[in-house]
Amino acid sequence: MINTEYLKEQRTEAWREVLRKSMKNKERVAVPRVKMPELDPEYRSHSYDEVNLGLSLEQALLEAKRCLDCPEPSCINGCPVEVNIPKFIKNIERNEVGEAAKTLKETSTLPAVCGRVCPQEKQCESQCIHLKMNSQPVAIGYLERFAADFERESGSISIPPCAENNGISIAVVGSGPAGLSFAGDMAKAGYSVTVYEALHEIGGVLKYGIPEFRLPNAIVDVEIEILRQMGVRFITNCIVGKTLTYEDLLAEGYRGIFVASGAGLPNFMNIPGENLSGVLSSNEYLTRVNLMGANKKETDTPVFLGKKVAVIGGGNTAMDSVRTARRLGAEQAMIVYRRSEEEMPARVEEVKHAKEEGIIFLNLHNPIQYTGDEKGRVKQMVLQKMELGEPDASGRRKPVEIPGATETIDVDLVIVAIGVSPNPLVPNTFKGLNISKWGTIIVNQETLQTDLPEVYAGGDIVRGGATVILAMGDGRKAAAGMQQAFVD
Ligand code: FAD
Ligand code: SF4
Repeated sequence: MINTEYLKEQRTEAWREVLRKSMKNKERVAVPRVKMPELDPEYRSHSYDEVNLGLSLEQALLEAKRCLDCPEPSCINGCPVEVNIPKFIKNIERNEVGEAAKTLKETSTLPAVCGRVCPQEKQCESQCIHLKMNSQPVAIGYLERFAADFERESGSISIPPCAENNGISIAVVGSGPAGLSFAGDMAKAGYSVTVYEALHEIGGVLKYGIPEFRLPNAIVDVEIEILRQMGVRFITNCIVGKTLTYEDLLAEGYRGIFVASGAGLPNFMNIPGENLSGVLSSNEYLTRVNLMGANKKETDTPVFLGKKVAVIGGGNTAMDSVRTARRLGAEQAMIVYRRSEEEMPARVEEVKHAKEEGIIFLNLHNPIQYTGDEKGRVKQMVLQKMELGEPDASGRRKPVEIPGATETIDVDLVIVAIGVSPNPLVPNTFKGLNISKWGTIIVNQETLQTDLPEVYAGGDIVRGGATVILAMGDGRKAAAGMQQAFVD
């Protein structure tokens, strides 16, 4: 298990006492939560510039005062990588932002990423004591982003200290947040870590999925560079299971393997017309735009830039796809979602931003057929109108068809974003792994060890499509589990 004793030790430092006495809790709670400055919606719906602009120093210093430095900080329980939240926030309050950034890096490999895309409202901020006092939670995510950005922009980036090399080589399959988080913790503990990535870019979904206007690639690259400086080696364009087999990895001398190959296999609805030209998965659409510049004039592999674009689904992937389509010139960019807005899995902020950018929401609608023109290109979709019934296994109210209520809408591009399945190559080629009926790898919940003793697994390949921070938490847990196995 991850050692959390140090969290308590660090809470006895004298400067924290001074801060506590500098302002009464009542005064701290009375400070209103900061608002994130944003680009104007009209401008940004035609631009790839980052939408959220980040806090100023003055805003961050004031927001940091809102944190009550709770003796038993519940916010840390909501953070899968166990960032010492009060310590980093109080470092901001005393204007030691570099120290705040160092605190973040003690447990998080990707603070600038998490400060941008982590669903804080469901994680740390949902546990903040302010909620029990009828006050909005401390803006932990905004402050995290602020500290990481401030350090990066200051030009003096701290590299986390690493133990002396212990001569044990470890391989990581996949360079998404799970793989990167694992690599960071193993490098800190003195292991030689090599990350194998199938694509030509490091970062997994952070690069090929989440668009620049939410998470600029340059920011991901800085956090990857820190790992390089910690000694982590990256090998791209290498598909484990094809270019290198499991047996090859063992023959190369790796004594531990962490599988973090994600869930990038798109699901489809299998309805009539889904094979028409102009109907594609969100994975294909976003990867081609984000990694291959398929929207640019000079590209060899252009993607069709639709004017009437329907995106099917209500998650982050759907929001990213529809907002991308809008930026690429869609006059009508529509979300088609079979439940109501309340059940949408996308982050509240993404839905708000999408609405401000003119996205049309066809909630309680479900596609049942696409029809095409004489060239086999999609031109219309038939939508079944839905209503909400009783809650299903997920606890959300189940969408039920309204008999006979359908609607036909003109479209020239349909992007299907209804979920993903695990990448099958590693589960199929590492003989001896225990695989679930969904294709995920089954692991020991405490250590993330698989049925192959030297192989651990985490992130979306174990959970199915989940979140960045859950994948990172798995990376840390697997690193702790593997290190313990070397000790035992
Ligand atoms: P991935 O990020 O998928 O990384 C897996 C990596 O493994 C990939 O780079 C892949 O190329 C590589 N790989 C696969 N097979 C092999 C192989 N055989 N050999 C070598 N390499 C291999 N989550 C949030 O928390 N907030 C968000 O705002 C958010 N937005 C999202 C938007 C989109 C468009 C998508 C698709 C997902 C989003 N998510 C979001 C979910 C989140 O990105 C994922 O849960 C997370 O990236 C999973 O991390 P991972 O490391 O397990 O896998
Ligand atoms: Fe600060 Fe909220 Fe955490 Fe308490 S729960 S330490 S107020 S962030």
